[in-house]
Amino acid sequence: MKIFKPDVAVNRIFDLDLNILKKNNIKGIVFDIDNTLAFNKEPEPSCEIEAYMNMLLKEGFKVAIASNNTEERVTIYSNKLNMDFEYRAAKPLGYKVRRLIKRMGLKRKQVCLVGDQLFTDMLGANMMGLFSVLVVPFDGDENSFIGFKRKIEKIIMKRWK
Ligand SMILES: [Mg+2]
Repeated sequence: MKIFKPDVAVNRIFDLDLNILKKNNIKGIVFDIDNTLAFNKEPEPSCEIEAYMNMLLKEGFKVAIASNNTEERVTIYSNKLNMDFEYRAAKPLGYKVRRLIKRMGLKRKQVCLVGDQLFTDMLGANMMGLFSVLVVPFDGDENSFIGFKRKIEKIIMKRWK
């Protein structure tokens, strides 16, 4: 079950300790959107997210978005932040994320993937050899399939303790 385990888990992305990333020689951060940066029904980034991305850029990180959501959802959200992106990213499969990392001009070991799901984000990050950061999902409004996956995720996470 280690393949699902994040390197770091945080409540919100704002809690992520950038020094940990720097210590691990991370130069770029790839973000999931839904339940990581935004609520599912939030089409545009909040002011906090905009400010956070600007802060990351100032700190010297490259940032990008990889979401399994639709072209429309991901394009609108990412363009507002001026961030490069891949939609329908097919996580946990790596081909679209790898192509994004290539465009960032980075190596996989220099990249961190931040997301809220073990079976897409963490599994994908760990299989690709990226640094993995799990954000505890904050949106209760989810469909039943994701609800089911959450239950399985909880069982897996219990074993880590
Ligand atoms: Mg998500």
